[in-house]
Amino acid sequence: MDLVQPRSPRELAAVRSWDANDPLRQFRERFDLPPNVVYLDGNSLGALPRATRQRIADVVAHEWGTGLIRSWNDADWIGAPRRVGDKIAGLIGAAAGEVIVADSTSANLFKLVHVALAARPGRREVLSEPGNFCTDLYVIEGALRGMPGRSLRLEPAERLIECISEDTALVVLTHVHYKSAAMHDMRAITARAHEKGALVLWDLSHSVGALQVDLNGCDADFAVGCGYKYLNGGPGAPAFLFVAQRHLAGSVSPLSGWMGHARPFDFVDPYAPAPGIERFLCGTPPVLGVLSLECGVDLLLEAGTAALQAKSEGLCQLFITLVEEMCGGHDLRLLSPTDARQRGSHLAYAHPNGYAVMRALIDRGVIGDFRAPDCLRFGLVPLYTRYEDVWHAVATLRDVLQTQCWSEPRYAVRAAVT
Ligand SMILES: *Cc1c(COP(=O)(O)O)cnc(C)c1O
Repeated sequence: MDLVQPRSPRELAAVRSWDANDPLRQFRERFDLPPNVVYLDGNSLGALPRATRQRIADVVAHEWGTGLIRSWNDADWIGAPRRVGDKIAGLIGAAAGEVIVADSTSANLFKLVHVALAARPGRREVLSEPGNFCTDLYVIEGALRGMPGRSLRLEPAERLIECISEDTALVVLTHVHYKSAAMHDMRAITARAHEKGALVLWDLSHSVGALQVDLNGCDADFAVGCGYKYLNGGPGAPAFLFVAQRHLAGSVSPLSGWMGHARPFDFVDPYAPAPGIERFLCGTPPVLGVLSLECGVDLLLEAGTAALQAKSEGLCQLFITLVEEMCGGHDLRLLSPTDARQRGSHLAYAHPNGYAVMRALIDRGVIGDFRAPDCLRFGLVPLYTRYEDVWHAVATLRDVLQTQCWSEPRYAVRAAVT
């Protein structure tokens, strides 16, 4: 279906001039995006970079097809997790040698929760917030299952910093909340935790690739992050983990697989961890996934995190303003902070019929997503979302709300993935 047309050509002119002056404008062409779609879900699955299509076709044909097993050496497949990790370090204020690409965010959380708790024996609590992304909480629970006497304590964001105590072993937080986009003060929370002798593990899944993150500037201990959101690594892309240099020597992964061994090709019986961040590898890296991720990360490095953050703020501000102007009186409630300094790169709105509204939007070419129980999410991705896209999205939202077309019965049927 066609997108909503402006009621007068002038309505769009201002917004288009922002696009014309956008320092990141050339990046949109470097993605394959379908026509007549406003894609506002890059915070859940990033778009496909053209370079990835090319690179993966090439890797499949030559490195795999012709090179076969020789490519582990000749194409340096074996070095890819570390090479791409070093690149991601440049997006999150980490140093080379502190980041590795491996496994999923969930698995990496498990490794680092273990490592952190081993470094704080005698302390009973892991502190997080209620409503943190579910896998983060589930993985902590799973890790604690084998550790009697230790437990997970959940405290609301506003109070959390006050609850860090001499009994806190580890604080686990998602830097930008997956639903509300509220951002924690990484510097303040990390500093308080250290004052009390606790460690902090940051989940950067909704920050990396959209915002400036300064792990070492904040003296962070551990972090994990997702490869398929703003990093554009593709569906199920491998994730990454960060261990501050000062913790590396004392940290041994509980998933001590052979790829994390000091000399995997010695094939000896006893485990000896690799000296560097490679010790956090477990099994054989998913090479196609790691190389896809590398293409996405290269684009972000080229854009630079300062420009990404500035554009993200501009897009979010425009969206908020247009919703106020065009969608007033329709039961929409902004759940995200209005202050850009306390917010990530997506916006969440509550609506009593949120699921049906989102389905109607998607049917009209505006793709966001829905998070239970009532939350519409719109991801504003600095690399490829245009100001004009924001205008079209809000104009379509206005029409969906005004016409109440969301009340068609087919929009109420829940799909398996929302
Ligand atoms: C997306 C996301 C994950 C993803 O975890 P997977 O292991 O890739 O399924 C984890 N944590 C947060 C906060 C996320 O937003």
